[in-house]
Amino acid sequence: MVKARADLHLHSSHSDGVYPPERLVEMAIDLGLGGIALTDHDTIVGNEELLSASAGLDIQCIPGVEISTDYEGFELHLLGYYVPENDEILEKRLVAFRGDRHSRFPKMVQKLRDMGFDIKDSDVREVLETAASPGRPHLARILIDMGVVDTIDEAFEKYLAEGKPAYVRRARPDISDGIRLLREVGAVPVLAHPLYYTGGNLRELLHILKDMGLIGVEVVYNYDRDTTLEDNIREVQRAASGLGLIETGGTDFHGDNTHNDLGSMTVPIEVIDRLREAADVVSRS
Ligand SMILES: [Zn+2]
Ligand SMILES: [Zn+2]
Repeated sequence: MVKARADLHLHSSHSDGVYPPERLVEMAIDLGLGGIALTDHDTIVGNEELLSASAGLDIQCIPGVEISTDYEGFELHLLGYYVPENDEILEKRLVAFRGDRHSRFPKMVQKLRDMGFDIKDSDVREVLETAASPGRPHLARILIDMGVVDTIDEAFEKYLAEGKPAYVRRARPDISDGIRLLREVGAVPVLAHPLYYTGGNLRELLHILKDMGLIGVEVVYNYDRDTTLEDNIREVQRAASGLGLIETGGTDFHGDNTHNDLGSMTVPIEVIDRLREAADVVSRS
């Protein structure tokens, strides 16, 4: 029998993904995955749907979140595993983070309009009303529908990426606050896609974050660059060696072509047990 695998980094339509949580569960089961984690940006509203859709089915689903944080001017993403479904502290803090996304989105729209693109009010309203966490991929999809660009990548390269004309910087919480917040609610903080960090030595960063309470690091991740998955895994494992961090991984699946296909980057199902145990320890402390 083939050992079950888990994809621990998925986005739903509650943040900037395409599919609702129940559809993700169906797709994961069709692919034969043993487990998935929902890690929407700065929102946990999809987790209830995830858990009810998977109840009684042969798949383990982790309620999670992905928080954008700041470390000395660099943007680092924190995955939080086993966030509580309904937690007031977490909800309030995430709403505050999202509030910035809601005010940032119209600013980016205005920049595009100033450049001459006739973005419809109804399209903007639809995103702001339906997405808990409006982001640049939403804007990219509007530009594709308008025929301005052909792909999401092209929209980022020309207009939406940091330093491009429609980019608006977002205020981010400090990573130490993100780690503390996750631990406070009994969730396991894990550094996402660590090789995107360009601010210095990764090993030093992991040491510092571990001292702040980091519990895991995303080792299996496919970066948009000229290295193989094996190279990436080795590089992160070398930086993390001896620190005792749980090694996670996933596709960062969004449902469009910006990231990897669901189930194409996975870790052994036992990683879920380690995360569950860590969550129990955090909850008790
Ligand atoms: Zn991320
Ligand atoms: Zn992500």
